[in-house]
Amino acid sequence: MKLSLYDALQNPEQIIETMKDADIATLALVLTYITSDLSYLEKIKPYVKGAFDYAVNVPEDISLEIRSALTKKLLKITNKNNKLNKFNPIENKYLDQLMSVGVGTEVAKEYIPMMEEELNFDTFSARDHFIDNIKKHKNKPKVIIVGSGLCGILAVIKLSKANIPFTIIEKNDSIGGTWYENNYPGCGVDTPNHVYAYSFEPSFEWKEFYSKRDSIYKYLQHCVNKFDLTKHIKFNTTVESIKYDESLKIWKSTIIYEGIKTTIESNIVISAVGQLNKPSLPDISGIETFNKPLIHTAKWDKNYNFNNKIVALIGTGASGMQVAPELAKITKKLIIFQRTPHWIIANPNYHRKLSKGKKWVLENIPYYASWYRLQLFWGFCDGIHESLCKDPNWHFPERSINHTNERFRINMIKHIESLVGDDKELLDKVIPDYPPYGKRMLMDNNWFKMLKKENVNLITDKINYINQNSITTINKSYNIDAIVAATGFNAGKMIWPIKVIGKKGINLNDYWENDNPRAHIGITVPNFPNFFMMYGPNTNLAHGGSIVFQGECQIRYILGCINLLLEKNYNNMDCKIESYIQYNTKLDEQHGKMVWTHNKVDSWYRNKSGRVTTNSPWRLVDYWNFTREPKETDYIFN
Ligand SMILES: Cc1cc2nc3c(=O)[nH]c(=O)nc-3n(C[C@H](O)[C@H](O)[C@H](O)COP(=O)(O)OP(=O)(O)OC[C@H]3O[C@@H](n4cnc5c(N)ncnc54)[C@H](O)[C@@H]3O)c2cc1C
Repeated sequence: MKLSLYDALQNPEQIIETMKDADIATLALVLTYITSDLSYLEKIKPYVKGAFDYAVNVPEDISLEIRSALTKKLLKITNKNNKLNKFNPIENKYLDQLMSVGVGTEVAKEYIPMMEEELNFDTFSARDHFIDNIKKHKNKPKVIIVGSGLCGILAVIKLSKANIPFTIIEKNDSIGGTWYENNYPGCGVDTPNHVYAYSFEPSFEWKEFYSKRDSIYKYLQHCVNKFDLTKHIKFNTTVESIKYDESLKIWKSTIIYEGIKTTIESNIVISAVGQLNKPSLPDISGIETFNKPLIHTAKWDKNYNFNNKIVALIGTGASGMQVAPELAKITKKLIIFQRTPHWIIANPNYHRKLSKGKKWVLENIPYYASWYRLQLFWGFCDGIHESLCKDPNWHFPERSINHTNERFRINMIKHIESLVGDDKELLDKVIPDYPPYGKRMLMDNNWFKMLKKENVNLITDKINYINQNSITTINKSYNIDAIVAATGFNAGKMIWPIKVIGKKGINLNDYWENDNPRAHIGITVPNFPNFFMMYGPNTNLAHGGSIVFQGECQIRYILGCINLLLEKNYNNMDCKIESYIQYNTKLDEQHGKMVWTHNKVDSWYRNKSGRVTTNSPWRLVDYWNFTREPKETDYIFN
């Protein structure tokens, strides 16, 4: 049985000991928050050098003093229901001091309101700003949400809070999207899981700092159950088309369930179909003739037995990095075909498990989880954004983009050399020639150690063709038993294959020239009134943050739009073309300054003409500001 806070406090010595597993900076933040005594902050300030727990080195006497003082205070104010009595949290005006010490650097003023929201203490649930107002209105619009992944679930939690009627259409037989479909061995997050959770729903079940797929899927299931959402979801139902009826000012969605087509109507459509939902196979001559298993990581075949097989892995991006070390454990031979190497960063927390003590503290010490999340959030916030901007005067523009970027490069090369430096041929194959962060950064999942295994081959020759049972490069043929394609998704072809038809019969896919999706703030498109997107064009993050953060910003904006419609008593709102063009012009200008448009970088972030269509170029705080509230002047109301 789990020990409650009240019970644990009956043995103060033991709780002081348990807290050793926790982060001392975080405990000091809790203590300061509940006592309003700023002296503890001063004590730890010199030792906190960054937002990550491993960067904190507080002397044991100070640490013991903090753990003891916190225990004493909690003993005094915790009641038998594990709630705190008679306690006044520190005044808001001091919160910036707490934040700055907690993250080991001065938090600039422009970040404070966003950070307060991330803390999500009751007093700051500003993200639900529009909900109370929407609730007051009697006749609310009906909403259809396409997709029940992380964003769709988030949307409906908020819509249900606002008493807005909605239906979710989901093509799968389960919720979860990414975290349902991707179940290859090793699949998991590369964002720390404590921030890869909604700000209003922490999870105390995580066993690791970077959870695997099963834990994330379970977390999403927990949210769906807690908010009682299942009854609103039409599973195994695919949205085929969504058409705007101009005379009735409604959307008509054609859905297919068990082969039968029906049409459902709504005032509003929210697309939450994700960017990474349509697996893409490599375009290699003869691939269709391969007559052995060809398994995409996003369509894993659990029944295929990889033991003692000769397996080819095509693709060395994020999924390849996760699946390959697992395959190398069981296959007779793993032949990895690499087109370009990725930059890979060492992360001491990547494989670490949470200790029992830390888990207990996260769940039981009041406010600890919120402060801990905030520290992690900051660590993955905008810290490196500036270093991803090109310095026009930089001396080595062919390999890096500025001084800091060059330092990243040097440090990562050191890491690689420490692991494979003794093998010159291998070393040459694994060091990228483009600047760090140009493609998605990967975390070292024992990749280099794996490359040195006897049964692993890294092939960098171009694949010429595939036939029934082999892969042939320009130099050699390899007989294989199976191919694993870790070749990602059709990310740039957004919302497709759903046919979205707006005003005047405009087809969204045509409007976007097939592979050039754009939207105002990533959310709305002219001629598609009341059609909102989550994780839409240019909202993927490659410098920090997570899609959870983006999703929370987007749903707040969408609720702001619904609020405007209700307040102004209009049926629909259509994004002005000028706002759309202005936003995207600025966005493209900003991308031109960033690493993702470097001439040596070819990635899924870019379309055929080289425009970045998936990623956001903005700092998180910029996007947060853009999405706080819709501007009436950006829309035409009807
Ligand atoms: C292996 C992997 C690891 C990742 N790790 C991270 C990470 O660490 N951090 C991070 O921030 N992001 C990560 N991502 C990105 C991830 O996709 C997002 O974080 C997030 O899960 C996206 O959620 P979503 O709801 O927008 O889309 P999805 O999860 O893709 O869900 C979309 C849903 O829409 C449904 N759908 C699609 N088309 C239709 C249709 N026509 N009709 C009905 N339903 C439809 C799908 O079935 C699916 O359920 C990762 C992605 C992958 C693939």
